[in-house]
Amino acid sequence: MEIAPAIGMGRDMLLQDRAKRRKYGLPAELHPAKLEDLSATRSTYFGGGWTTADITVSTVADQTPIAPGRKIFDQVANGRRTARFVSDAPILTFFSIQSARYAERHRLYKGIDLGIYYHPAHAWNVDRMLNALQHGLDYYQANFGPYQFKQARIIEFPAYDSFAQAFANTMPYSEAIGFTADATDKDAIDYVTYVTAHELGHQWWAHQIIGADMQGGTMLSETLAQYSALMVMKHLYGEDAMRRFLKFELDGYLRRRGGEGIEEQPLERVENQQYIHYNKGSLVMYLLQDRLGEDAVNRALRSILDKYRFKGAPYPRSIELVDAFRNEAKTPEDKALVADLFERITVYDLKADAPTAVRRKDGKWDVTLPVEAHKYYADGKGNEKESAFADRIAIGLFTAEPGRGAFDRKNVVLMERRPVKSGRQIFRFVTAQKPSFAGVDPYNFYIDRNSDDNVAPVG
Ligand SMILES: [Zn+2]
Repeated sequence: MEIAPAIGMGRDMLLQDRAKRRKYGLPAELHPAKLEDLSATRSTYFGGGWTTADITVSTVADQTPIAPGRKIFDQVANGRRTARFVSDAPILTFFSIQSARYAERHRLYKGIDLGIYYHPAHAWNVDRMLNALQHGLDYYQANFGPYQFKQARIIEFPAYDSFAQAFANTMPYSEAIGFTADATDKDAIDYVTYVTAHELGHQWWAHQIIGADMQGGTMLSETLAQYSALMVMKHLYGEDAMRRFLKFELDGYLRRRGGEGIEEQPLERVENQQYIHYNKGSLVMYLLQDRLGEDAVNRALRSILDKYRFKGAPYPRSIELVDAFRNEAKTPEDKALVADLFERITVYDLKADAPTAVRRKDGKWDVTLPVEAHKYYADGKGNEKESAFADRIAIGLFTAEPGRGAFDRKNVVLMERRPVKSGRQIFRFVTAQKPSFAGVDPYNFYIDRNSDDNVAPVG
């Protein structure tokens, strides 16, 4: 967009401002095409499609130019440094070119050059990023399919803005969200790894398949990049540490849906709404893999990748992936869950109410956990209607509060899935160890409008 005129026109050129649109007698909102409008599968939501790239960049002699692709030429002459990059696999007509006085660190991993280009004073998290790339490559190549390039580069830019973005094998990354992060706080989310894994995930989800220019388009890239990052975190930190990430996403979703100015959409109809494709998407995908199994979810993902990888129109729609998940759902309960997660706006309210533990004659403990459960369907304006609900949800007994401090597996006295239905019910257990906390959905897998009351201290 910065270096050449764009031929034709795109929606992003249209007036966006609601007041201005009204002034000119245009509909106030610009909505993407409906999911049912098959004509919209002729283009991607980026506008362009797949291409090859051969890019030559010239810059001042003491800077390092970077563009997508394999570097086949790099020379300094007459005070200029010139480099040429050629892509080995198709890329989108959506790429970035950068140049600065970078420090560089490289690691060759399974034939792939992992490279971090950074401000020489900002080396703190470079190893963490390299490790995250390595974990990501391992998980994604094993579960989604081969990485299409021979290099993966992270390139620091100043805190003019605080985002990272994935272009083909080049990932510009703000100093503000990774390079200058303090990763020593054990209670904080390791967002350097999370963001790095998310951007690498886009090399599959956006840079191997890209959604059609319609509702749900960003579910195939942003939601799946979130899922990819969550799987890296799960395998790195363990399931018992995931509450911290899930609660972060849940709080973000609940807060931002309250500020929705137009209309909340179900995930499969997301209209580029960030709180839906990122925050809600994370929760939906995490619960889905917990219920259907990680292998089943990855099998469904591979089926869409294999059908659409690097192909031109028609581009994929979100509902094809939802159908692939439904095919993996083996029980009516699980099929209903797929519909609730993707096709509706579903909000739960799960609550642990004053659990108790009483010592028995044999030295063990009688634990009683009253649980209150409700499920609601919301419309796009936030009006809710309660719906009958019966599901198998995790019940947990712990010696410390999940998600806090050094909580991990050793604090789990019991964790098992039990049938939970609408209304009030009581669960009873006999344990050898006295739990100090008990709860329902204790790791916040469900979209719960009050996630703080899922776990309560045992009296
Ligand atoms: Zn993303």
